[in-house]
Amino acid sequence: MKKPHNKYEISTDSRLRFPEDEARYPWLSLLLDGLAVFDKGTALAIQRARRKRSRPVACREGCGNCCRANTDIPVFPLELAGIYLYAIERLNGPLRETLKAQLTRHDGKLPCPFLIDNGCAIYPLRPGVCRLFVVFGRPCSAGEDAYHTRREDVLTPLEEFSNQAYFIMLPFYGITKDEDRIKAIKNKVIHARVRNLLSCDWKNLAQKMEDHDRGAAS
Ligand code: SF4
Ligand code: SF4
Repeated sequence: MKKPHNKYEISTDSRLRFPEDEARYPWLSLLLDGLAVFDKGTALAIQRARRKRSRPVACREGCGNCCRANTDIPVFPLELAGIYLYAIERLNGPLRETLKAQLTRHDGKLPCPFLIDNGCAIYPLRPGVCRLFVVFGRPCSAGEDAYHTRREDVLTPLEEFSNQAYFIMLPFYGITKDEDRIKAIKNKVIHARVRNLLSCDWKNLAQKMEDHDRGAAS
């Protein structure tokens, strides 16, 4: 396997930035760069797919049936670190309180505990899989996982972009040399660390949010 490279000139210059947090947590820059590459890959894959099919992208803001129906939501440890940081330190207002309550109640089942009013409470830091899952044609119906009901309408992610994103993020897992990262991608080392977002202990995050709030109030 060749080293993933910037064949598509994957610039992350315009990506989301949290300068203070990135100065405190160097891993956050790896995550934000990697997520930006996923987003660019999705945008290009949509462009290419649109040339081949006349059906438009069905995904819209406020269309959350996928977050209620997909039983497998892979999330990597670095993405989990980003979700924790965002929820604990960045989320404010009523959304924060609703999320805390929802995380406390989460029992490992659907819907995704971050779905609030048909929107994603952690949208800027949502995992890669949520950035890659795009459906064409009609929006998913209630309870439909389009990957299983109509695979032909589900966008196929561009492997080169996903590999580039993993390449960027691998130092978080202690794999820093280029050649080791290339091998790790080939051997799907990062995939051995994946968890299902639904089965994570979200009560723990709710508690940490609460502790943070108490600390800030005292
Ligand atoms: S995947 Fe389906 S439910 Fe989710 S935003 Fe797209 S069309 Fe809507
Ligand atoms: S993290 Fe956000 S986008 Fe992903 S499944 Fe949950 S609510 Fe939906």
